[in-house]
Amino acid sequence: MTSLEPASGPSATELAADVDVLVVGAGITGIYQLYRALGAGFSALLVEAGDGVGGTWYWNRYPGARFDSESYTYGYLFSRELFEEWEWSEHFAAQPETERYLNHVVDRFDLRRHIRFGARVTSAHFDEPSGTWAVSLGDGAAIRARFLIAATGVLSVPYTPDVPGREAFRGEQHHTGRWPAEPVDVAGKRVAVIGTSSSGVQVVPTILGEVAQLTVYQRTANWCTPLNNTPITPDEQAQLRAEFDELCAILNTSISGFAHPVNDRAAFDDSAAERQAFYDKMWNSPGFMKLTSNYYDLLFNEAANAEWCAFIADKIRAIVRDPATAERLIPTDHGFGGKRPPFVTGYFEAFNDPKVSLVDLRDTPIARLTDTGIETTDGLREFDVVVWATGFDFGTGALARMGIRGRDGLELTAHWADGPSTFLGLQTREFPNLFFPGGPHAAAGNNPRYNGDQVDFLTDVLVHATEQGCDVIEVSAESEERWTRMVDKGAAKTTFGTIGQYVGSNIPGKPRRYLLNTGGRPKLFEIFADVVKNDYDAFEMTTSTGPTGEPA
Ligand SMILES: Cc1cc2nc3c(=O)[nH]c(=O)nc-3n(C[C@H](O)[C@H](O)[C@H](O)COP(=O)(O)OP(=O)(O)OC[C@H]3O[C@@H](n4cnc5c(N)ncnc54)[C@H](O)[C@@H]3O)c2cc1C
Repeated sequence: MTSLEPASGPSATELAADVDVLVVGAGITGIYQLYRALGAGFSALLVEAGDGVGGTWYWNRYPGARFDSESYTYGYLFSRELFEEWEWSEHFAAQPETERYLNHVVDRFDLRRHIRFGARVTSAHFDEPSGTWAVSLGDGAAIRARFLIAATGVLSVPYTPDVPGREAFRGEQHHTGRWPAEPVDVAGKRVAVIGTSSSGVQVVPTILGEVAQLTVYQRTANWCTPLNNTPITPDEQAQLRAEFDELCAILNTSISGFAHPVNDRAAFDDSAAERQAFYDKMWNSPGFMKLTSNYYDLLFNEAANAEWCAFIADKIRAIVRDPATAERLIPTDHGFGGKRPPFVTGYFEAFNDPKVSLVDLRDTPIARLTDTGIETTDGLREFDVVVWATGFDFGTGALARMGIRGRDGLELTAHWADGPSTFLGLQTREFPNLFFPGGPHAAAGNNPRYNGDQVDFLTDVLVHATEQGCDVIEVSAESEERWTRMVDKGAAKTTFGTIGQYVGSNIPGKPRRYLLNTGGRPKLFEIFADVVKNDYDAFEMTTSTGPTGEPA
């Protein structure tokens, strides 16, 4: 038993569990889940492996880290007061500001006393008679929870390729997803950045001014376009406050959870000259608009996608002075959106600096790290600092490392050996009372919006079950099958994210399975409403027999 003091509240099964709701993960999803569970009257506790609040924005402290979602559409919308009192400084805030914001939320809503930091869940076993989860933490503590809610994130397990000699390197090396809290001193140093997706392309221009020499190791070129970030002016701040309701209305009907206007034109509805003008407008638009407000057939029409890519390629050629480097920076193996497109500020320009060089790993793969540097088939380059910007075990990575066992000791990793099957990206059969908002099958778009929808719905499910006197909730086989089929069908229809992390192809041995839901928020709301209308019959809600075999 844990010595932790959970908040008191109307417990579903006070005798069987230490807490009604155990949330795992203090990212934007878990914090909101904690808030909602407490608000619904459950006793709740949140455990977090890290030593602070923020999840993604706690771990990713690398130079240049910032999101590509507009700050005010990324932050919470559940409290108008919170929205009005917090002023984001930029349209796309950097990591320190987002970490500060999430800490502010935790304190403003008095959540910190319900959070335990430095507490990694190492195992979670479902106990059938009591219908509870027996959870162990890395420090040996044990907690028994009625409902286990793993808000453990889709991008919380960094991936570092198994390159020989990594331990031999005598300089400093850091993964962007585990960047130290103490600033890493790169001033006057020879730095290698390995990886050129969203994180690597943020690091490069940010440290450029300080380093003596910067070598970028690229395996796959990405379709990078400008973030076009700007400060939020006082007038814009006032407008945001005044238009809170409108913003919520737009976001709540947006497929992707962004407040971007959707384009109802197909690429070839416009003349060639109109298209070029439109592409220019897109190039100068903020963040993800290049995907969400582009011609609607961008992801379905190969010719439309190819033309937009050709436009970007010409931009790269115009920015990067060395033609050979420019060509290497232009993707050749996927179209726009085939991988998550990164957004950049000064990335391509960095290659005009004589201190910067590009190593194309398709031509000269890394053979090993030595004590002084990185050896490719082309020879050794020596470094003081190596930055691994090599991504994450997306979607299922954190859940697979939690030691989760459901009914009859079934391991989640075995259950999902061929990839995840879920209902609403929230639950999987054979694992009653386990939920994972913000996990696989959750978001294709602005994450906090989808994840928040899941949290709201899930909280209603828990309340409903408790009101019915039920304490065991398990998705029906039919609901799970229908949803998973919908996800797979959606994947077959799009080119978005069909290579790389969203299908697990960046991790050796991981099953290739689409890990996102492209159905969109309105569809999600439709299904939620349907579940409620049908008296939650998508879930089997039952009563545990209790630890002693008696009804709890
Ligand atoms: C660099 C970067 C930029 C991003 N930019 C955007 C963006 O522009 N727009 C967007 O929508 N999304 C973006 N994302 C995705 C981002 O992960 C989500 O937006 C969001 O932060 C996810 O929140 P979360 O709470 O679901 O998960 P996380 O923020 O990942 O939090 C999960 C937490 O769970 C904890 N945890 C995991 N396993 C355990 C365990 N076993 N025991 C205890 N604790 C555990 C982790 O330590 C972590 O703190 C970005 C991600 C990265 C890495």
